[in-house]
Amino acid sequence: MTEHNELKEKMYEWTQKYAEKAGYRLNPDKEALDYVLDGLTLKLEKFGKRYCPCRIVTGDEKEDRKIVCPCIYHKEEVERDGSCHCELFFKAN
Ligand code: SF4
Repeated sequence: MTEHNELKEKMYEWTQKYAEKAGYRLNPDKEALDYVLDGLTLKLEKFGKRYCPCRIVTGDEKEDRKIVCPCIYHKEEVERDGSCHCELFFKAN
């Protein structure tokens, strides 16, 4: 397994744990899920932090802290839209 894929596997495990703890489920579309996990892993590799794959890292540390996954927006988004902006976490039912 490449280093990227190992990191991605760990990311997947983390998202599973978080989803379970928070009462969410992961995107049931495996391809879409894979895409977001890939994005999260790339952000971690590039910036050293699990920044949201579908938001822009500004370089302002205080601002960017808001978009470390799970971002400060996800709860409201899941509640309102049924999933977070990246469609990683979904409402459980
Ligand atoms: S939108 Fe979803 S994937 Fe992106 S940081 Fe927030 S919780 Fe994570």
